[in-house]
Amino acid sequence: MSIADNIHRIQQELTGTSAKLVAVTKTHPVELLQEAYDAGSRIFGENRVQEMAAKQPELPADVEWHLIGHLQTNKVKYIAPFVHTIQSLDSLKLLQEVEKQAARYQREIRGLLQFHIAKEETKTGLSLAEAEEILQSAEFRAMRHVRLAGVMGIATNTSDEHQLRREFRELRGYFDKLKSLYFAEDDAFREVSMGMSSDYRLALQEGSTLIRVGSAIFGAR
Ligand SMILES: *Cc1c(COP(=O)(O)O)cnc(C)c1O
Repeated sequence: MSIADNIHRIQQELTGTSAKLVAVTKTHPVELLQEAYDAGSRIFGENRVQEMAAKQPELPADVEWHLIGHLQTNKVKYIAPFVHTIQSLDSLKLLQEVEKQAARYQREIRGLLQFHIAKEETKTGLSLAEAEEILQSAEFRAMRHVRLAGVMGIATNTSDEHQLRREFRELRGYFDKLKSLYFAEDDAFREVSMGMSSDYRLALQEGSTLIRVGSAIFGAR
């Protein structure tokens, strides 16, 4: 199967849903990203700042670049001129830096709040209480250049379907709660980013709106 075949097959699975495909392009050369673009992909996910900043000028300008990996505050400046969505917002301090850099470039940057849903300790992310603390802060409420568009989570690396469903439901529940409490009037807050190559079908059943798929498109890394 070619990259184009894989993308078309996944896009077919998304017809009838409002979910979108984020093609996770980390580690792959720009030639393969161009192949994905030519097959219709417009949303690319990278997990490292330097790699994304190096690839961005080589691809057409209408690509939506999503950062999906952990972001250090001192690196926001490298992607601020072009990044569409930062899916890995996990602290007020990071949000403040994104606000500052986005203002500097007079643009709006979208962001998702990343939640900790996996059993593994290593996977980072917020708890519901921490997210609410951010949303209630005066600092957040004054921000005009960061636009929160939803939530993101990385499930446990397991083939246990029940476990995966439980985690996806947990994230969907966080989204529903935050939506009703803080974003009821805000149409931009609508994304639940969950599901990767091995579990995106389950994630879609549990209400994912953005699936992040790498190896099922490009092969093993
Ligand atoms: C690498 C990565 C993916 C894609 O993983 P695949 O198993 O290759 O589909 C999705 N989300 C995040 C956060 C990643 O780092």
